[in-house]
Amino acid sequence: MALMITDECINCDVCEPECPNDAISMGDEFYQIDTNKCTECVGHFDEPQCVQLCPVACIPIHPQHVESREMLMAKFNRLQALKA
Ligand code: SF4
Ligand code: SF4
Repeated sequence: MALMITDECINCDVCEPECPNDAISMGDEFYQIDTNKCTECVGHFDEPQCVQLCPVACIPIHPQHVESREMLMAKFNRLQALKA
C-alpha cells in the first residue's frame, strides 16, 4: 500500500529527507507522497520510515492505493531499475 499525508501535517520537514525512494515532496500546503514511488519502504526498511518519524501521526495508508507486499516489491524493483 502506498501511504498518504493528511492535512494534519505541520510541515516539520522531518520525513522528506528520510524517504529512500524520494517519494515525499512539498505540496501546495503540506507535504505529499507520490504513490508511484512509495513502496511503504519495502525493499529498504522493515517499517515505513516516514511513519516512524512523523511527530503528529498523519501518514495513513492511501485507501485508493492498497497494494500487496509482492506489488510493493515489484514497485521497488522498477524504481531500482530506473536508478541503474
Ligand atoms: S513509506 Fe517509505 S517509501 Fe513511502 S513515503 Fe514513507 S518513507 Fe517514503
Ligand atoms: S513528518 Fe509528518 S508532520 Fe512532518 S512533514 Fe512529514 S508528514 Fe508532515
